[in-house]
Amino acid sequence: MSLLFYSQGQDHYNLDPDLKVVLDTFAPGLPQEALSTFGKLVGEEVLEVAHHIDQDAPPRLKMHDLDGNRRDRALLSPAQKALLDKLRPMIRPAYEGQGWPLHYAFGYLLADGGLYCILTITHQVAYALHKYAPEWEAVKRELLYGPAFGATWMTEIQGGSDLGANRTLAKREGEAFRLYQGDKYFASGAGLADYALVTARPEGAPQGPKGLGLFLLPREVEGRLNFTVRRFKEKLATRAVPSGEVELEGSLAYPIGRLEEGIYYTLETLTVARLANAAAAMGIAKKAHLEALFRVRRRTAFGKRLLDHELIQHDLLEMRLRQVGGTALAFLAIQAFDRAWEERPPYSPRYHLARLLSHLAKGRTAEHASAITALAMELFGSLGFLEEYGVARWHREALITPIWEGPANVQALDMLEAMAKKRAHEPLLEMLQDHPQAQRYAERALARLKEEGPWHAKEALRGLADAVAVYALAKVAHEPFPELSHLYARRYLEGEPLPLSAQRPRLYDPW
Ligand SMILES: Cc1cc2nc3c(=O)[nH]c(=O)nc-3n(C[C@H](O)[C@H](O)[C@H](O)COP(=O)(O)OP(=O)(O)OC[C@H]3O[C@@H](n4cnc5c(N)ncnc54)[C@H](O)[C@@H]3O)c2cc1C
Repeated sequence: MSLLFYSQGQDHYNLDPDLKVVLDTFAPGLPQEALSTFGKLVGEEVLEVAHHIDQDAPPRLKMHDLDGNRRDRALLSPAQKALLDKLRPMIRPAYEGQGWPLHYAFGYLLADGGLYCILTITHQVAYALHKYAPEWEAVKRELLYGPAFGATWMTEIQGGSDLGANRTLAKREGEAFRLYQGDKYFASGAGLADYALVTARPEGAPQGPKGLGLFLLPREVEGRLNFTVRRFKEKLATRAVPSGEVELEGSLAYPIGRLEEGIYYTLETLTVARLANAAAAMGIAKKAHLEALFRVRRRTAFGKRLLDHELIQHDLLEMRLRQVGGTALAFLAIQAFDRAWEERPPYSPRYHLARLLSHLAKGRTAEHASAITALAMELFGSLGFLEEYGVARWHREALITPIWEGPANVQALDMLEAMAKKRAHEPLLEMLQDHPQAQRYAERALARLKEEGPWHAKEALRGLADAVAVYALAKVAHEPFPELSHLYARRYLEGEPLPLSAQRPRLYDPW
């Protein structure tokens, strides 16, 4: 019985043979049983609980306890609390010698912007402590193994993309600092997080992003609230994570690593989140893609199954191309990060390549996810427009992926910076060497960028990302991936229509 989703109750890893071969290529040897167990948890519990949180039980801000004390806590539904306990292990693999791809594969399967955000911001704090503040080992363990949650608060009311405009001021007090005039205006995990990473400018530090330090901000100090939460935002999606406004005034915070390197640590934690965004974008898209695959087998129109109509087959091929292209791009970027993540500033070309790939993956997967989920809604007809079933929600969820963790234009500008200042395109072109066609596409995008500068940056990001996707798809040594690589290039790099010769089920139907 499918009350909400056709894929309910199923193993979501098992349902996704394309994911399996992409992982075999870019992260060989991942534990299949763990992925399958997680896939079942998603089918049996996550889908239903995530839908329930979204529709009926988003976190609420509880400002005072019964005795009138200010508490500013997020009240979560018991179902969400229990589920978060089951999901927390997914943030541990990198610290238990299993590498990053397993974590991101779980993130893809989870495919819920709100739940995954709670885990990612917790993970980002653990990451920063692990690399740059080993004196907080006990807190890192609380984050990885429970019960603590983390958060990352950079955006202020006057600017998100423009981090250098941060106004929060840090005044030294012994070994620690006090933060003043901080208005962290989009603070996910507010009311939930026990520890947050925050950016602030130490007194006397230069203006702009390079003057920002990174600090660890505990929720409570000696039993008292260390900051206040003004309100929670009303959001289109990602409702499982409370996103609030946090006020910092005299809040005690501890410096992470070297204060003058704060912006580098911040960018590193952003890379962790951008890759999560890429994996989640394709995971969310996959949920909608799966529903569409079930639907077109069951629904009939004009006397035959939707699946048997040529135009539907064309739609399914578009979906699958975007789906596999984005997924291969994301896991290739994750593989590069897995090889470079332990580096510290100043970084080697290997790290700069990983960072460049994270911009390409973040930017392009967000576009694919928005397009795939919209097409899935369309294939459901009017049912696709109803809030009652999963498909419409996944489109809402997909729409955050181009915005947070740096909107699309900012990914394009950061990509430009990684190439202009760190020459990150050189290792990229070197990587593409064994696929001359993909290398030519990348060179074409770079040549146009050289001529037109920032005007062309978003197009260039798309062109480079698609060149890498073509390369990554060709690396997947399973049928029909070489052909999908060729079709992806034709569709998204040549701008050509999909040929009639592509009208074969093995191309448009992963099952
Ligand atoms: C649900 C949700 C949760 C969030 N959670 C957090 C969180 O936990 N922590 C946190 O720190 N932030 C969080 N954010 C904030 C988010 O990361 C920022 O909103 C985002 O980075 C964009 O910043 P902004 O809103 O200030 O947009 P702006 O910076 O005002 O940008 C507006 C538009 O202008 C474009 N733009 C900006 N600068 C340029 C330029 N130089 N050239 C061309 N185009 C440009 C951008 O691409 C964008 O399209 C969250 C946001 C949302 C929606």
